[in-house]
Parts: sequence; C-alpha cells; structure tokens
Amino acid sequence: MRVLVLGGTADGRELCAVLRTAGHEVVESVAGRTAQAREAAGARVGGFGGASGLADYLRSAQIAAVVDATHPFAAQMSSNAALAGGQAGVPVLRLARPGWRDHELADQWVWVPDHSGAAQQAARHSGLVLLTVGRQPLPAYHDLPAVLARVAEWQDAAIPAGWRVLEARGPFSLAAELELLGSEQIAALVSKDSGGTHTAAKLDAAHQLGVPVIMVARPELPSGVTEVATHAGVVDWLAAVHVTG
Ligand code: NAP
Repeated sequence: MRVLVLGGTADGRELCAVLRTAGHEVVESVAGRTAQAREAAGARVGGFGGASGLADYLRSAQIAAVVDATHPFAAQMSSNAALAGGQAGVPVLRLARPGWRDHELADQWVWVPDHSGAAQQAARHSGLVLLTVGRQPLPAYHDLPAVLARVAEWQDAAIPAGWRVLEARGPFSLAAELELLGSEQIAALVSKDSGGTHTAAKLDAAHQLGVPVIMVARPELPSGVTEVATHAGVVDWLAAVHVTG
C-alpha cells in the first residue's frame, strides 16, 4: 500500500523503516526546516501548499493512507492532514508519543496553554531562564532579560541582549542536564509537552535542583482523527484500512 508519512521527527523516520519492512511503499515527507530533516535520505522536502495542495498531492500520487507522525506541536500540518484526507477520501492516522501529563512530577509544574503564557510565568523569576521550546516560538519570549535558549539548530537570527543560544540535539542524559542547570544557575526551565524520553531528563534534573518548571500544553488535535502511540498501532491500522479499503 502506498503510504504518506508526514514526518520531521525521529519517530517519523523510525516509522518509515518499520513500514517498509512491513512491505508498504512509503513516501516520507518533511518540511525541511532543519538541515538534518532536509538531508533525510529519500524524503520529499517542503510544504504542499495548505490543505487543498495536500489533497491534490494525495490524489495525484495515488496515496492510499496518510500517517501524520509530525511533532505534537506541528498543529498546522496536523490540521491540514485531517482536512486534506477528508477532501481526497484518504484515511488519516495520527501517531503521537504520549505526553507528559501523566509524568510523576506533572502536578509540580506550572502548565500554560501557549508560549505567551509561558513567557508571563517565566518573567516572574529573576535570573537566567532556560528555554527548551525549539527555535520558532522564541519571539514570544523576547521580553525576558536573561535567557539561555537551547535549540537543535540555530540559524543566525538576531537575539536580544542578555540572551545566549546553546545548540544541542538530544537525547540528553540526567548527568548532563544536572550539570547544565547547576553550572548555569538556571532560575526557571520552560519546556513544551513534547513527551517521550529523549528530552525528559531535564525534568528530573530540575526537580532535583529545585528549579521551577513551566510547561506549555499540547495544541488541540483536529477532531475525528484516530490516534495511536506506537508503530505497531500504525501497522495494525494500515492492515485494517487495507482490508476495508
Ligand atoms: P506546522 O506549523 O504545523 O506546519 C507549517 C507548514 O509547514 C505546514 O502548513 C506545511 O506547509 C509545512 N509542513 C509541516 N510539516 C510538514 C511535513 N512533514 N511535510 C511537508 N510539509 C510540512 O509545523 P512546524 O511546527 O513548523 O514544524 C515543521 C516540521 O518540523 C514538522 O514536520 C514537524 O514534525 C517538525 N518538528 C516540529 C517541532 C515543533 O516543535 N513544532 C519539533 C520537532 C520537529 P504547507 O501548508 O505548504 O503544506
């Protein structure tokens, strides 16, 4: 079956390998925001031109099913996938790793609905704020006077005075996170609810060092889209689509 995997994440790359092994013809699609994504071997790079562009693509490329394996915060792409699937009559599945709502420390964090809420909460702390929210949301935090922004890839954009950028790609160990938070004397940590284990050690490190955590909640999923948390769940769903399709 020809399957379009909307990726841009480690989960997406791993899923493509699993589906190919299971005998599917896989088209991996990435937005191409980072060099790592652009260099993903064999991937289709770049946007489709909104939901209607994606619907056109699904028809012309004869895609039988779409798996939306984009990052939990790539809300626009997930919304487009749901709409396009409806327009083109192609079933869409969402693959999303579980978030940190059920993490054992979750009730000790300040949960906020968006980045502007996180910036307001962070402004209540004097000292250096560690931002681990990726590159794109950083403008929402520009009023903070002292920031260390950790990003996977930096693209030489201007940063406010008092800010520093730390380029680093996970996974991060607990020892490394303790060292970073301790040596930089971090006053507050801002994270988004990405979930998974690759970047979770910072949460334990913050707890051990008494650093407050501000957590941006996940955006709402488009309604009516089935969601699974594992690659096996995707394989099973595709088998069911194949039988009923
Ligand atoms: P977004 O705001 O949801 O998407 C913006 C636009 O980028 C989409 O409308 C689409 O353009 C294009 N796009 C996004 N994902 C695509 C894909 N897999 N294939 C082709 N086009 C795609 O997404 P974002 O937050 O900027 O994230 C961009 C990519 O980075 C995503 O693929 C995501 O998986 C990955 N990523 C995001 C985060 C994050 O925190 N947001 C973290 C790690 C990785 P058109 O409308 O023209 O089709």
